Amino acid sequence: MTTASSIDSNEDSPQARHRAAVHASADAERCPLMPTYGPPTVQFVRGEGPYLWDSNDINYLDFLSGIAVTSLGHSHPAVAAAVAEQAKRLLHVSNLFGTEHNGDVAATLDRLIGNGQPAGGQVFFCNSGAEANEAAIKLARRYGGHGRHVVVCAYQSFHGRTLSTLAATGQPTKWEAFQPLPEGFRHVVWNDLGELANTLDETVAAILLEPVQGEGGVNPATVEYFKGVQQLCRERDILFMVDEVQTGLGRTGQWFGFQHFGIEPDVVTMAKALGNGMPIGACWAKASVASAFRPGDHATTFGGQPLATAAARAVLATMQAIGAPDRATEMGEALTTALSRLPYVKEVRGLGLLIAAELDGLDAREVAAECLREGLVVNAVTPSALRITPPLIIEESHIAAAINKLSSSLDTVAERADSSAD
Ligand SMILES: *Cc1c(COP(=O)(O)O)cnc(C)c1O
Repeated sequence: MTTASSIDSNEDSPQARHRAAVHASADAERCPLMPTYGPPTVQFVRGEGPYLWDSNDINYLDFLSGIAVTSLGHSHPAVAAAVAEQAKRLLHVSNLFGTEHNGDVAATLDRLIGNGQPAGGQVFFCNSGAEANEAAIKLARRYGGHGRHVVVCAYQSFHGRTLSTLAATGQPTKWEAFQPLPEGFRHVVWNDLGELANTLDETVAAILLEPVQGEGGVNPATVEYFKGVQQLCRERDILFMVDEVQTGLGRTGQWFGFQHFGIEPDVVTMAKALGNGMPIGACWAKASVASAFRPGDHATTFGGQPLATAAARAVLATMQAIGAPDRATEMGEALTTALSRLPYVKEVRGLGLLIAAELDGLDAREVAAECLREGLVVNAVTPSALRITPPLIIEESHIAAAINKLSSSLDTVAERADSSAD
């Protein structure tokens, strides 16, 4: 029988070679942090509105917003005050007791999901997008019952990094190192209703889709697709679950991305912008679906605690006061128009202020690095596309400044590519 120790003693085993490689790179790094991210390029120490300052006091325009998180800009006074006051009052008591704010925040989310009218749902609070999707997946399994547990997702989707949300994520290259993953996930081609219909059988409990695939390259769903998915779900009593972790809370020009498509999902997950930087996630479900959960089925120590929900309450009140979705629409149109006029940009796609600029022959990672040197924060969402997700509070003048910086970055990278080709 092969035992762990017999594997260990074989210096030529794949495990031994893997360990040697890991040790070599860890020695070389001597960093107190695990090597899950690349080496940091700059360290930001301060922010205000759409601006950031690094440790050398250099100023940047932030058109990434911590990956669609700080939608109200940095250090928003209403959010900062809510967090500071709550920190002085009460931080945490556990979910064994009632908590101020979380009922209010849940009711507000229910009304935003219902476009101003109560949508008849209930909310489970957690701490991140992955946890919101975990809750949705567990709810789908509880609702479906044994033997009816499969969740169908799309290729190029992103749903998180925990084992089950990784299994839901439609990017096979991210699965490989972590096999075996939890079973019960099936993947279909994005925006292809025929393929989706063909994969449905009596084992399918839910379909989980993003209204715009964010990490997958900013790929919006089509209206026909989402309407068709809803119809298939209703015909077969399958849950339609939308992952609004990146698209939710005004970014796309509606409170939630699904509202562009005239559908009514059964489950909605969200996180990123909900706390404007305070970690908080939420899973909303129609009450008839949420009732599949019984006390003890799902839980979290921190979820819905007063510090996070105080931030969320301030975020939602501010977003409603400024009409965040309309601002995203208006600024999104201005930014899309300006981006489309740039040389080396061959396509601009997205909704509202969730935008990707597809580059013509330039490496998006090089362009993003050059932008950072120019004082503009954006990110390469694919090797050929930049993701541009500024805070929803930007004005025309910020767009003009960002376009200037991006334009000169594109020129610099193009010149470099030309001269290395000579
Ligand atoms: C970011 C993201 C997640 C994961 O959220 P975390 O807070 O990083 O766990 C899930 N789904 C989508 C669509 C996302 O963009």
